[in-house]
Parts: sequence; C-alpha cells; structure tokens
Amino acid sequence: MGLLGVRTGSREAVAQSLPALFASADDPYGCHVSTFGGGQFLDLAELTDDERVLRQEAHRIAVDVLRPAAWSLDRMTPMERISPGSPFFTAMATLKSLGYHRLFLPPEAGGPDERLSALTQSVVLEELGWGSLGLATAFLVDMLPVMCISNFGSQELKDDLMVPWVDDETGSYHGCWAITEPDHGSDFISVRDSESSTYGRAQLVAERVDGGWVLRGQKSAWVSSGPIATHAAVHAQAGGDGDLVHSLFAVVDLDQPGVRRGPPADMMGVRDDPQGEIFFDGVAVPERNVLVPPGPLYPAFQDQLLCLTSSVISNVAVGVARAAFEEALHHARTRIQGGGPLSRHKNIQLTLYAMFERVETARAYSRAALAHTQANLPGASEQAAGASPRHARTAQVFAKRTAYEVANDALQVVGAQGLSRDALVEKLFRDARSLLIEDGTLEVLALDAARDLIDNYERTDYDFEEMMATW
Ligand SMILES: Cc1cc2nc3c(=O)[nH]c(=O)nc-3n(C[C@H](O)[C@H](O)[C@H](O)COP(=O)(O)OP(=O)(O)OC[C@H]3O[C@@H](n4cnc5c(N)ncnc54)[C@H](O)[C@@H]3O)c2cc1C
Repeated sequence: MGLLGVRTGSREAVAQSLPALFASADDPYGCHVSTFGGGQFLDLAELTDDERVLRQEAHRIAVDVLRPAAWSLDRMTPMERISPGSPFFTAMATLKSLGYHRLFLPPEAGGPDERLSALTQSVVLEELGWGSLGLATAFLVDMLPVMCISNFGSQELKDDLMVPWVDDETGSYHGCWAITEPDHGSDFISVRDSESSTYGRAQLVAERVDGGWVLRGQKSAWVSSGPIATHAAVHAQAGGDGDLVHSLFAVVDLDQPGVRRGPPADMMGVRDDPQGEIFFDGVAVPERNVLVPPGPLYPAFQDQLLCLTSSVISNVAVGVARAAFEEALHHARTRIQGGGPLSRHKNIQLTLYAMFERVETARAYSRAALAHTQANLPGASEQAAGASPRHARTAQVFAKRTAYEVANDALQVVGAQGLSRDALVEKLFRDARSLLIEDGTLEVLALDAARDLIDNYERTDYDFEEMMATW
C-alpha cells in the first residue's frame, strides 16, 4: 500500500492486469489517445509531498487506464459496453485493485488512516474527470451507497455489505444512484421547490410489509451504471403521497427476484458509463437496508446529499474543462497553417486566455465548495453547520458551464480536425454537453440555489434539526 492508502502499482503491473487495454509496448492503447498535458501545470494549491505523489498517481491512472478504456467504450455499441470483458469492467477493477474506492471514505469505514483532505479529494476528482467523465461518473455512483451506509447504516449492514464492498479489489460490487424516473427528472433534483408537494405519485413506490418494504415500479433510463450495478442507492415514495417527506432512501441488492433492467441507452455523450432503466417488480427491502425512512429527515438528507454530489461533480467538471483546454493549447502550438503556428493569431491567444481564466476560476470555486461541504455535512464534526446548498449548486453550475464553454472553444481552435471522431475534443465536447443535464440541469440547479439565497442569504449555518422541522 502506498501513500494515503492508494496502492502505487507500477505501470508494468497495471499493464499486466490490463491485457485488453495495453495492446503492445509501442502502441499501449491499441488506438490513438491524446496524453498531452502530462499532469504538468502550475496548481496554485499548496500540496504536501504525499498529495503531490497522489496527484501524479491519479494522473497516471487517467492516462494509462481511463482514457484508453473510455476511448474504446465510446466507439462500442451499448450491448458491447456491458458485455463480459468490456474495458468498462477492466477499468473499474483496476481502480478497485489500486484502492481508489477507499480513498474518500473515513478511516472507520475502511478509508486511509488519516482522512483525505478536501483539497486532495478535489485534486483526485479533477484527474479522474480529465481521464474520462463517464468512468469518473461510474466511480462516483459506485461510492454513493457505501458512503451513505458508512454514515447512516446499522452495524449489521456495515458488517454484511460495506466491509466486503470496501475489501473488494476485483470489481465484484458496483453501485448506482437511482433517483430520477420517466415522469420525474428535474423535480426530484430541485428539493427546495415550494411546489414539491404537487409532484404527484412517483413511479417507484415503497409499500410497508412485515420486516421492511416492497418496491414496485421503475427508475429512468438515465441511471448511470444502472445496467451493470450490483446494488442501487434508491429513492422511493412511500404510500403514494405526492410529498417529498413521504419518501425513503435505501440500498437495494439488485441481484434478487423482481429486479429487471432495460436495455442500455445509446447516448450522445458520457458513453463510457452505461445508463439504463431498472424495474422493481415486488422487490423486498429489509428494514436494515432503509438508511433514511419517510419523514422530515428525508428531504433534509436529500438536500445535503445533493450538496455533496454537486460539489463533487463540479471538481470532475473542472477536469473535463482542463482536458479540453490542454487539447486546444497543444493544437495551437503545434498546428502549422499559413506558414506558422496557429498560436500567433491574436484571436487564438485571447481564446486560450479566456479558457485558462475559466478553468482556473472554476477550479478555485469548486475546491472551496467541496471543502465547505465536507466540513459541514451533518455529522462531519461537532462544529458542522450544514452544507450550503447555494454554494454547492453554484459551484456545480459554474464548473459545468465552464466545461461546456471551454470544450466549445477548444473545438473552434482545433477547427475541422476537432470535428473528426479521431479527435479527443470531439468526445470532450459531447461529454461536456451532456454535463449540462447530468445530475440536474443548469437551470434547475440555478433555481434551487436562487431559492436558497433569497431565503437564507444572511445565514451562516443550516441547523439540521430546524431544517427537518421546516419540511
Ligand atoms: C449523463 C447522465 C447521467 C445521469 N445519471 C443519472 C443517475 O445516475 N441516476 C439518475 O437517477 N438519473 C441520472 N440522470 C438523469 C438526470 O438527473 C436528469 O436527466 C436531469 O435531472 C434532468 O431531468 P430530465 O432529463 O428528466 O429533464 P426534465 O426534468 O424533463 O427537464 C427538461 C427541461 O425542462 C427544464 N425544467 C424542468 N423543470 C423545470 C423547472 N421546475 N423550472 C424550470 N425549468 C425546468 C429543464 O431545465 C430542462 O431544460 C443522468 C442524466 C445524464 C444525461
């Protein structure tokens, strides 16, 4: 085990475990994948030596594992992506064999001996996003059930499910986050909407039975990793009431009678993480798997969970933006056109400057938002004051918009070559465009932040008890 709990496998060792990805020493990916940047740039953060090594390791994983796997997956049919031997499984297994799934957990849940700082988490998330938005998404939704069990689960559930999941180094466990439904997308993300009591009946309903609950219904076709997940973190409405308060949050074993999956979706972007429907035809959920029961805790929990997902995905989006910026920079320096490099043109210089300005600003704000969220999630410490929804949502909106604008500019700098399926910027543009919808649309996240700032701007804390009382 290396620094900070991540196994620092040599490139050769990683290569040996990835025969499908490492075709030969000369052409290790078996395809063209840009590695420009090399993780070399001036980061204004003060990192310790350990943190610097971890960043290098994460970048190497992004270069050696994530980008080549993502490149192959992007070109496959939806069914090929989820078939045995797909680079998706190899990439996930590699992350697990190197211990990345433990990196963000507290020590008592099997994480590093000393909890990773929020800054280090941001650095690693940015590298994963730089490597592949889809595989970074798969990595994050895999962690979600375990993180929630570590905070809300009983000791029995921790022993029976969390411990083997955390110990797994082959990818036997894989999580997903099943929240949206065919008739409920944005409305399940904008928890602060005063109209939430009129959302109507959900399409996944939980019925009370002896010893637990039974799930009937379905989740949307957009559940990331839905087609392959072994377990889902599920939101389900209890009793059919249209109010958010009457919902529960549970971790559900997907390898049991009554679970069916729809075909994997064929999406424009984020094709490296399979998405698909999950149907629940009378699926039993024992009481111990219900982490948050129906009641005022549920909306407060969902609000704070969304603060975490928002501030995490914003750091991943910064990685996507940096990847696009680096592709444009490389191209502007090396493309000879009209007798000289593109970078001699003033408009190209100003575009590169504007891209750099946005990436740097998004990075600074995303890191600040994640640090505040991590420090203030209920239970994080005795001083935890509740994570700030307006800041978390704003970080997400800003970073996603940055990723899209920077990818769009990168395409313009690269010109026709950037529109070719052989160019990384073409994939980055499709991924960045999808980000404007993934995990909440920009408009809905912004409206959620606006409601919070109008109601709470002068507040510096989000008392959890009070929050529960208001719902
Ligand atoms: C790549 C990707 C990954 C995803 N992963 C997951 C996942 O892991 N799990 C999961 O459950 N879901 C997932 N989703 C679904 C995602 O959360 C939803 O797509 C998103 O929340 C938007 O919902 P919708 O697509 O149903 O759009 P709708 O809610 O139908 O919205 C359509 C349009 O109407 C606007 N709109 C909607 N409501 C309002 C309002 N109240 N006020 C103003 N404008 C509004 C929206 O901004 C948008 O422009 C994923 C989606 C993508 C693209």
